[in-house]
Amino acid sequence: MAKNISEKIDTLRAQIRYHDRKYYVENMPEITDFAYDLLMKELEKYEKTSPHLITPDSPTQRVSGEPIPGFKSIEHRIPMLSIENTYSEQELREYDTRIRRMLKCEDPIEYVAELKIDGVAVTLWYQNGIFTQGATRGDGLRGDNITANLRTIKDIPLRFSCADNHAPPLLEIRGEIYLPNSDFQRLNQLREEEGKVRFANPRNAAAGSLKLLDPSMTAKRPLRLFAYAVGYYEGKTLVNHANCLKTIKEFGLPVNPHYQICRNMDEVVLYCNGWELKRDQLDYEVDGIVVKVNSLELQKELGATSKAPRWIVSYKYCPEEAVTKIESIRVQVGKTGTLTPVAKLQSVVLSGTTVSRATLHNFDEIERKDIRIGDVVVVQKAGEIIPQVVRVVQGNRTGEEKPCIPPVTCPACNDTVVKEDVYLRCYNPFCPAQVKRKIEYFASRKAMDIEGLGPALIEQLVDKNLIEDYADIYSLQLDDLASLDRVGEKSAQNLLNAIEKSKKRDLCNLICALGIMHVGSHAAEILAKRFNTLEKLTSATVEELEGIHAIGTIMARSIIAFFSNSQTKEIIGKLQTAGVNRKALDIDESAASPIKGKTFVLTGVLNKYSRKEVEGLIKRKGGKVTSSVSSKTDYLIVGDTPGSKLEKAKELGIAILGEGEFEKLL
Ligand SMILES: [Zn+2]
Repeated sequence: MAKNISEKIDTLRAQIRYHDRKYYVENMPEITDFAYDLLMKELEKYEKTSPHLITPDSPTQRVSGEPIPGFKSIEHRIPMLSIENTYSEQELREYDTRIRRMLKCEDPIEYVAELKIDGVAVTLWYQNGIFTQGATRGDGLRGDNITANLRTIKDIPLRFSCADNHAPPLLEIRGEIYLPNSDFQRLNQLREEEGKVRFANPRNAAAGSLKLLDPSMTAKRPLRLFAYAVGYYEGKTLVNHANCLKTIKEFGLPVNPHYQICRNMDEVVLYCNGWELKRDQLDYEVDGIVVKVNSLELQKELGATSKAPRWIVSYKYCPEEAVTKIESIRVQVGKTGTLTPVAKLQSVVLSGTTVSRATLHNFDEIERKDIRIGDVVVVQKAGEIIPQVVRVVQGNRTGEEKPCIPPVTCPACNDTVVKEDVYLRCYNPFCPAQVKRKIEYFASRKAMDIEGLGPALIEQLVDKNLIEDYADIYSLQLDDLASLDRVGEKSAQNLLNAIEKSKKRDLCNLICALGIMHVGSHAAEILAKRFNTLEKLTSATVEELEGIHAIGTIMARSIIAFFSNSQTKEIIGKLQTAGVNRKALDIDESAASPIKGKTFVLTGVLNKYSRKEVEGLIKRKGGKVTSSVSSKTDYLIVGDTPGSKLEKAKELGIAILGEGEFEKLL
C-alpha cells in the first residue's frame, strides 16, 4: 500500500510538471485549469496522508516558509556584470568593427539578438535538476537571497523533468522577472480602490513584489519569467548561445520566443529597427535589444572588461519619455468622488501620439515629486494609456513656478473634501461632477451603450437642470434636447432612439451601468448570472454575496450599501417606471451554442449553483443532462468530493469541467 501511494504521488507530480511546462513554457495547455486543479488537489490529498513523502520540490510546496525580517545577501559565483549600451545604428556597427578587429576576424560574426525585457534580473541555481537558490542581481557581486519568493513563480520549475537521469550536477540560469502590462494595470487599479499608492511602472511593481517579506504575498502577484542565459554549467558541452537558449527551454524554463540568430550586423540592425514599433504590441515592456556573439568559443576569447563582458552589447531604444511644461493643474472629480489632479501640458509627441495632459494620481504624489505649476517635467507612458509625470527638471526652475495646493473643498460642489489614505474624496451624493461622471459611465459602451450621449451633452443637460441623475435620461423629450447648443432635430431624434434602445440591454449591462463602487463589468456579469433579476440582487444578503467566489467582502459591502441608499431606491424606481429591462435576457436557442445537442453528467457538490439550476441552464441552451457516464457523454461537470463518475469519465477520455469552466461554456 505504502509503495502504491509513493508511486501515485510520483505520477501526479510528473503529470503536474508536464502540464506546467505545456502552459508556461510552450503556451499550449492540454488540459483545462480545472482538470489541473484536480491533479493538484489529488496530490495534496495523498501528501496529507503521507507527510513523510513531501519533498521541497513537490508542486504543492511553492509557498513555503514564514515571513522573514529581511533578506540575506549572497555572493554571486560568477559576477553579474553590466552590459555596454549603444544608442544608434552607428554605435552598433562600431562595436562590430571593434570586436572583429580584436578577434582578427575577416568574416562576419554571427550574433543572437533578443528583446530586452524591462524587469528585474535574477539568477537561479539548479542542483541535479532541483531548484535550490535564487537571488537578485544586487550590485553585480552580491545580491539578495529571494529563493522563497522565486519558488512561488510558476514559470520557474522546482524540478526538471529530466532530474532523475541526465540533469546537470550544477547549473545557473539567468533571467528577467517581469509583470505583464495587463496585470500591472489591474494591480494598480486594485491598489487605488484600496487607497494604496500606485506602482510607477511594471518594473517597480515586479521589484516590489519580489522584495515582499512574506512569500504568500508574492505568490498573489502574477509575476512571470523569461530566462535568457546560462551562467554556470557542469555537464554536456554547449557550443553557442542559441544552443544555451534551446537547452534552457528543454529544462522547462520559458525563453522569449522572439530571439533571432543574425548572420551579421546588418541583420542585427534590421531586427532592432523592426522591433522599435512592434514592441508596443507586446503585453510587457521592452526597452531595447540585447545582442550576443553566438559562438561560446569566441565569447571566451573576447572575455570581459572590469565592468562588462565584451561579447554582449545592448541597443537601447529611446526611452518613451518626453520633456514638456506643465501649464496648469486641474482637479477632476471621478464618479465615486475621488479628486484626481491632472496636469495640462504643452502638447508634445510621446510614443508616436500627441499628448497634452498627464495624470498626477493624487496630491501626496505631487508633494513627493515636488511638482509645481510652470515646471518643466519628464513625462512617460509606463504600461498605461494616459502618461504620467516622472520627475521635474529641477535645473529649469526660474522661481516663477507655483506650488499646487490640495483643495479643501470640492471644485464642483464646494462641499468639504475628506482625505482617505492618499486620496481626497467628495462625499456629496448630489455633487454635479460626480453626477456627470456617473451618467457618462451609464451611457458607456460596456454599460447601457447610448451612442451620442457624450460628456459635452451631459454637461449641458446637468447644468440646465434637465436631468439630475442617469435615470432621468429616460424622461427626456425632443424639445429638451433640441433646446441645447449644437444639437439639431435629427441628432436629437437619433439620441432619443438610442436611449429607447438601451431599455432592452441585458441585466449585466444594467448592473454595470449603476456605477456601484468596486463593481465593474466582469463582476456585473457574475451577479447577473447568479441573481437573474435586479430585484433579487437588490434583496441579496451580505452572506449570499460573500459566498460568490469572485465577489469578496469589500465588493459585497459596497453592493449592500449601494442598494440600501434611499437615493438609489428612488433611481431604481425611475428605471422601473421607464420600462428598463431588469432581467437576464433569455438565451436565443437558435444561436449556435457549444452546449446545444451535447450530453452532460454532474457529480459532486457545486458551490455557485444548485443541480436544478445547472440542469435548467443546460436545457435552456439545448443540451441534455443524464445520470450516468457513458461513451455518449460529452461533458462531466465536477463539484467538490466527486464520486466514481469522475474515474469513469477519465477512463473514457470525456471532457471534465469545473463550475468556472461550465460558466465559460455558457
Ligand atoms: Zn463634489
